[in-house]
Amino acid sequence: MEINWTEIENKWRSKWIENKDFETNPNERPKKFITVAYPYPNSPQHIGHGRTYTLADVHARFYRMQGYNVLFPMAFHYTGTPILGMAKRVEANDKELIDNLKNLYGVPEESIKEFVEPVKIADYFHEEIKTGMIEMGYSIDWRREFTTIDPVYSKFIEWQINILREKNLIIQGSHPVGWCPKDQNPVSQHDTQGDVEPDFTEYILIKFKYDDYIIPTATLRPETIFGVVNLWVNPEIIYKKITVDDEKWIVSEECAYKLEFLDKKITYDGEIKGSELIGKTVTVTHREESIVMLPASFVESGTGTGMVMSVPAHAPFDYQALEDIKKTQLEPELASKVSKITPISIIQTEGYGENPAKEAVEKFGVTDQNDPKLEEATKEVYGKEFYGGKLKQNTEKFSGIKVAYAKDTIKEWLIENKHADILLELTNTPVKCRCGAECVVKVLNNQWFLNYGDKNWKESATKCFDQMNILPQEIKSEFNYVIGWLRERACARQHGLGTKLPWDKDWIVESLSDSVIYMAYYTISKFVNNKTITAENLSKEFFDYIFLNKGDASNVSEITKMSADTIDEIKKEFQYFYPVDSRHSGRDLVPNHLTFFVLNHVAIFPESNWPKEIVVNGSVLMNGSKMSKSMGNIIPLRKAIQDYGADPIRLAIIISAELLQDADFNMESVSGIQNKIESLYHECIRLKAEKIESLEAEDRWILSKTQSMVSQVTAAIEKMRLREALHDILFAFESDLSWYMKRVKAKNRENISGILHQINSIRVAMLSPFAPHIAEEMWEKLDHSEMVSTSQWPEFSQENLDATAIQSEELLKSTIDDVSNILKVTKITPQKITIYTADSFKSKVYHSILEKVIVGQTNMGIVMKELIASPDTSDVKKIPDFVQKTIKDILSEPTEIRETKLQSREFDEKSFLVNELTELGKKEFSVEIQVFSESDSDIYDPKGKARHARPFKPAILIE
Ligand SMILES: [Zn+2]
Repeated sequence: MEINWTEIENKWRSKWIENKDFETNPNERPKKFITVAYPYPNSPQHIGHGRTYTLADVHARFYRMQGYNVLFPMAFHYTGTPILGMAKRVEANDKELIDNLKNLYGVPEESIKEFVEPVKIADYFHEEIKTGMIEMGYSIDWRREFTTIDPVYSKFIEWQINILREKNLIIQGSHPVGWCPKDQNPVSQHDTQGDVEPDFTEYILIKFKYDDYIIPTATLRPETIFGVVNLWVNPEIIYKKITVDDEKWIVSEECAYKLEFLDKKITYDGEIKGSELIGKTVTVTHREESIVMLPASFVESGTGTGMVMSVPAHAPFDYQALEDIKKTQLEPELASKVSKITPISIIQTEGYGENPAKEAVEKFGVTDQNDPKLEEATKEVYGKEFYGGKLKQNTEKFSGIKVAYAKDTIKEWLIENKHADILLELTNTPVKCRCGAECVVKVLNNQWFLNYGDKNWKESATKCFDQMNILPQEIKSEFNYVIGWLRERACARQHGLGTKLPWDKDWIVESLSDSVIYMAYYTISKFVNNKTITAENLSKEFFDYIFLNKGDASNVSEITKMSADTIDEIKKEFQYFYPVDSRHSGRDLVPNHLTFFVLNHVAIFPESNWPKEIVVNGSVLMNGSKMSKSMGNIIPLRKAIQDYGADPIRLAIIISAELLQDADFNMESVSGIQNKIESLYHECIRLKAEKIESLEAEDRWILSKTQSMVSQVTAAIEKMRLREALHDILFAFESDLSWYMKRVKAKNRENISGILHQINSIRVAMLSPFAPHIAEEMWEKLDHSEMVSTSQWPEFSQENLDATAIQSEELLKSTIDDVSNILKVTKITPQKITIYTADSFKSKVYHSILEKVIVGQTNMGIVMKELIASPDTSDVKKIPDFVQKTIKDILSEPTEIRETKLQSREFDEKSFLVNELTELGKKEFSVEIQVFSESDSDIYDPKGKARHARPFKPAILIE
């Protein structure tokens, strides 16, 4: 009988809603406040989105069962350009987008027509995503839902932004930003196709004089100007003559376009062909010396200025291009100029002679300027010179300076003397805005920036990160790295939905700045939704009082026209739920949102309200590859729920990877999980809560193993190692259960339903955060009256963990394994099996050695000496071999097992095996099994095997 997932899931979802199980208000219990980054409603969610929210939901459900009062809310991020960009594409009738909306996401045609209005897009997908989240069974308190364009939210953002400005953390200045020339807006990761953060490189433009013109070339190594011997120009490029502020420049068309955004006034004066420049000379301004312009095909118009300065002693590309040109047919006049060029060596580096570029080209066996090996050669020379090189005598006043330090000094000197300028270029080109336009770097003048470069601010954030629990631990260094490089960041946009800057209404607070402290807003949004709080009359005093405990209720009451009691109730709600106990997000938000979240919290809230934990997860792959529209492998979440059920999807996502790994989702794992759950479900139907009779050895063992599972699963979830936890519940425990069933069958027992009922109730309870719907159904079938999602998390009890039961059962298992192995190796058909257990003296010595090893003593000599010194164990001198082997036995086992062995009492191995092995062994090997202690007087020991017996390692004779 197959499970009808949809039916079961609908049934339990309605019950949760009916019972208001996930609506959370302050009470006397301890709280946990779990949040996830709210979604942008610009498309429906796919399986990949489901991961972060599912992980957070498991976390919330786990804490709820542990007795915490858990707040798990959700909202929708309308602010920002993604939605705006989409509206523009709909307006432009973008075929690809409209096809996706229609065919992939099933958006009705009438709705698509309305999508030219951004808020219509947001509203549509808001509902779509919310429905999907409900269908996934997320235990969200929907009474607190909001969008970031709600009027009260805008008041809240105004308050936040004003505080930052008062604290001088929002500043006005000129800084470079990624920029969409079409939208006339700064762009960051969320605004670009493929979610790339625009990153830029600063080049130094070295100015060379050519008649009345300046020919600039871009370099990252300004120190090499002392070694310039010629310029490279591409004869095929048509260059632009432009006026830059008050100078006349010649640059490629692309370069002229980039300069327009860099705070320079550009006018276009005319054109000149590259070929016209070949053979002409330019002056190196700082040393009034002429050098020639030579043709080179490797020069690209899109990089730098479209012209390159040539430093053949230190740049392998330049050296090789010069070698190449010497081999070509040139006009006599040019050929004579070329023949006179000799590289100028300006850097002394250990391991290199006069011409490092030449040495590297020869070492790598470069053939011509198109040889890819040139890249490696360049990397090597640059690296060695940067870290180990010193400038030579011919660099005049810079002589003797290390290259690593010279760079900035020479750059400043050049710019001061107007021999150079700056060119900013996107590093990871092309970066496309979501509107389709290619992004550039723009220097924004007199604009509003969050001063993330501020040293004190960074220090507070670092302190917060240090105190925080960051899961997984290994991601912590990434946050430190981000804090290190972070600098000023534009916090306003000219277009898009959102809150206006309170002091400059032409600007809108951008989406990564209005989404950093909104978790606090969840504590008041309940009162907004029930109309207790309205935007009218909301003031700074209100927010100051609620969130910062400043001012007094009567004053706030007067201003807001709310009663002082209501205001205090709202404040209590905040004080109860804050700080955030856990913030969940995908790894792509580490360098922006998650870091800004911490920075803004430390700037605005007192330390007692700083966030406590961040949980970061990797992304989801589909059959091993990245999910993308172009790959056509996106599965919308709601469609997947329809096809497979929410629980199988939740389980398949979690079981496929630990936190930071990318989860590989595939349909085989979904159906594998479905089968697994189905068999557990059918078992739950069969089991009855019968009275448990007196316990036998295997019962004590399986109940103890259940306790170990509880302890392991709990510890794993606390560290958000959900894959491991789920694996323990569903799979690892299964092998214990099947051993138990084998034992029970060997004894023909029928009175075990009560025990299995107890064990499976524990499993189902622990499964419930992961697969909440089916767990409720199983729980009901197990005849529990209340809901599993509001039941108590199984508590680990040391009392019910019987170390001796575990050890004796392990002895039984390993004895059977040993016999099977011997039979397999020797291929004997046994007539008779005899087992010899160690005597009580060895057992005493064993425990004594175990105690010593556990405290760290593993030295054979010392252990032996101590044993001999004790009268109880002094006889070991007769069996030194035994001591050595026992130390080895113990060391080969994991620490936990050593601990359980220490906890377990000494038990009589012989009588245990006589009772438990004889029946089971007969079934297993179809032959009589006899058990002796090595000191038995009536022992049968024809081969003298008995003396080899050690505790937990009986000797075996097979005949
Ligand atoms: Zn754009």
